[in-house]
This record gives sequence, C-alpha cells and structure tokens, in this order.
Amino acid sequence: MANPKIKSSAQTAKKSNATARRKPAAKSLYSKADLEEIFRRFSIQRPEPKGELEHVNPFTLVVAVALSAQATDAGVNKATRALFAVADTPQKMLDLGEERIREYIKTIGLYRNKAKNVMALSEKLITDFGGEVPRTREELVTLPGVGRKTANVVLSMAFGQATMAVDTHIFRIANRLLLAPGKTPDEVEHRLMQIIPDHYLYHAHHWLILHGRYCCKARKPECERCVIADICRSPEKTWDIPAPLVELPAQNIGTQTVG
Ligand code: SF4
Repeated sequence: MANPKIKSSAQTAKKSNATARRKPAAKSLYSKADLEEIFRRFSIQRPEPKGELEHVNPFTLVVAVALSAQATDAGVNKATRALFAVADTPQKMLDLGEERIREYIKTIGLYRNKAKNVMALSEKLITDFGGEVPRTREELVTLPGVGRKTANVVLSMAFGQATMAVDTHIFRIANRLLLAPGKTPDEVEHRLMQIIPDHYLYHAHHWLILHGRYCCKARKPECERCVIADICRSPEKTWDIPAPLVELPAQNIGTQTVG
C-alpha cells in the first residue's frame, strides 16, 4: 500500500510554495522593470548556474547539505565520495552505523554531532517516509539536522522547485542594495520570493550567491565590475556605469547559510 505521507508530499508541494509567495507585499526600491532587467543580466552572465555538493540521489543530497553547515563544499565532497560509495540509501546508512559514519566524515567540522544526525535522519526517513526523501519543506524540516535553509536547497537541487535558500551573500545583497531588506534570513527569503520575476526564480538564488561572492563582495563591493551598476541603488555604490554584459566562466556555488 502506498505510504500516505509520500502521497501527500507531492500534493502539498505546490501549496507550500504558493504560501511562501502569499506573504504581505514586499518593500523594494526597485520597479518591476528594474527587477526584470537585473535578473535578465544575471541570466546572461551565468545561463546555467549549478550547485557544487556532490550527490547521487535525493537522500545523499540531504546528507551532503546537512554535513555542509560550517564547512566548505569541497571538504564535504572529499568525505562523502567514499561514504556514498558504501551507503547511498537510508537503510545502508543505518547498517553502516554511527561509529563508521564518524570515521568517514571526521575531516568535517562538528562531525560527531553530524554523524548522529545522519543516523537519526536515516531512521526517520525509513519509519515516517517509506525510505524516500519527502518533497515538502514542512516534512523536510522534521528530519534531524535539517533546517529551513537546508530544506530549500534540497527542494531546489533534488526536486527542481523554485526556492530561496538565503545564505550569507544573499542576506547581504538583499539588504545592501535595498532589494528585499529584512532583519532575518526568513524575512529576506519571503521578500525575495515575492519580488523576483517568476521566470527567473529557479536560478535566482544561485545568481545572487555568485554575484555576492565574486562582485558585490562583503568587505568592498567591486562596482566597476558590476553589470547592474546603473540600476543598483545601494548607498555603498561607488560606480554608475555597468560592466560589459558577457557570459562568465563557470564558478563555484557554496551552500553556506546564515541564521
Ligand atoms: S553596483 Fe556595487 S553595490 Fe551595487 S550591486 Fe553592483 S557591486 Fe554591489
């Protein structure tokens, strides 16, 4: 018999995204036309941005994202390559046991706690979700070690849903540019989900991360290299002429989160 929770996942996925987009009107200094143009330019710079965390199925993605808190993607990939070769399902992970999981991931920060969470989330996936990764944020956050931002990364990368996993770069840009100002990552997430044009929403979180990492940097934004310098209304802006709009070489995308 089909697991009713899995069935409800698919049914409520749409509802979940719709709810996120039905929050009170967002404040942004930018007009619809500005927003359309900002994301059009980002889409030309990076037509197919991709995440860096290696995984072979939704389960291994959940584990990889949970392990990536306060760690680099490269460091997580190094550890998970060997781990996922022996355990790519919740049952295999349980069979491996906490001690051996610890051995595989001991190069990653907070590995003791993370090994516990990997065991606990594998067990919960089996008992509550028939061994499958659920497709709604509400269900994903019930897994040990999985918060809202991790759930957003999983929904986007594993299931192709448009989400906004607010990391340190997105949080800074949303506030610095007064694009979607907010005091918490959740506030910024809701506002960005409202103002970003639908057809750009799926890649928007990667574009914003990359823009923050390589151009609108934390210590000093590099406005001379910025393709939206003419549209940007940040008080920190130092340049008004947009950089040439060309496709950039592939660059890494991290999953570092804030909050
Ligand atoms: S113009 Fe400067 S402050 Fe504005 S988005 Fe570009 S880099 Fe950031």
